[in-house]
Amino acid sequence: MILRLKKEATEQKAHEIGKELQAFVVKQPSGYVLVTPSKLKSVEDKHQSFVDSFVVLDDDIQLASKKYIPHTRKIKISDKVTIGGKTNNSVVITGPCSVESEEQLEQAAQLCVKLGVNVFRAGAFKPRTSPYTFQGLGLEGLKLLDKMRAKYGLKIISEVRDSTHVQDIIDYADIIQIGAKSMYDHGILKACAKVRKPVLLKRGFGTTLQEFVQSAEFILSGGNDDVILCERGIRTFETKTRFTLDLCGVAWLKENTNLPLILDPSHAIGYAYGVADLSRACLAMGIEGLLIETHPNPAVAKSDASQQLNFEQFTNLYQSLNAVAKAVGRNIV
Ligand code: PEP
Ligand code: MN
Repeated sequence: MILRLKKEATEQKAHEIGKELQAFVVKQPSGYVLVTPSKLKSVEDKHQSFVDSFVVLDDDIQLASKKYIPHTRKIKISDKVTIGGKTNNSVVITGPCSVESEEQLEQAAQLCVKLGVNVFRAGAFKPRTSPYTFQGLGLEGLKLLDKMRAKYGLKIISEVRDSTHVQDIIDYADIIQIGAKSMYDHGILKACAKVRKPVLLKRGFGTTLQEFVQSAEFILSGGNDDVILCERGIRTFETKTRFTLDLCGVAWLKENTNLPLILDPSHAIGYAYGVADLSRACLAMGIEGLLIETHPNPAVAKSDASQQLNFEQFTNLYQSLNAVAKAVGRNIV
């Protein structure tokens, strides 16, 4: 259950009631909000005079539920880029899977500037499936991303691999990406709950929608309102593609949650040949954005070589997106 306390309710009172109800106390500009275990279904008489309104929830999807906020949350990424709310904006995020060198980042950043892409992605701490492959440049990679931001005015998104460097990502990135393999890492979730920066939370590839959104609840209940969900494919019996992009799940998330949605067709299919078609299909669902991997020379990429688009492929795709966006009443930002 979510209880909105009256504006006059003091911090002390909010914590007092919160303790009694085993609730999270979230401070909002409009006052205190208490999030209790979802099995609580009514407000006791003794608390009535402090409660402005309340929402009864079926399960532990609470702050992310459309029953709590009936529209998609508005998230400001920069002066140029806001998603959600009434904006109808879809942000296109691109860049290489990993930061490999300054020259590689320069080339990819220049492509963004040339096309008008505002948000640049690359991983510095890579959560690889093998210890014998490239693990990322770490902090040095983040500093190179920082350099691109300063030079080209791009906003930066980069992923947290584990809680040992979560603070570095918080310090450097404009959007903190929590990778699919880290969706359950409570150290990361709780650290991201304390910051005032948008977090892009990827769905673990073996998780249900309920588990995915409950992970987001860890961030929301800790006080960070700006969570974006990212569907990036789940594991099914199919082996011809790397993962299976769960578009039915996307429809469910759109219908039931108030969190903006960004889709990642690159990691879902795992092969460059399908990324353009999938990107257009995703955008046609009326989502808040796309995350697409691009590399100056995918053949020599140190991670995810098979799925990254070369610059010509990305340019052609990017230029085709406006028509799709227009058809479903959205704007590319
Ligand atoms: C990535 O974005 O490069 C990445 C590793 O993604 P995921 O966490 O979805 O596997
Ligand atoms: Mn990747």
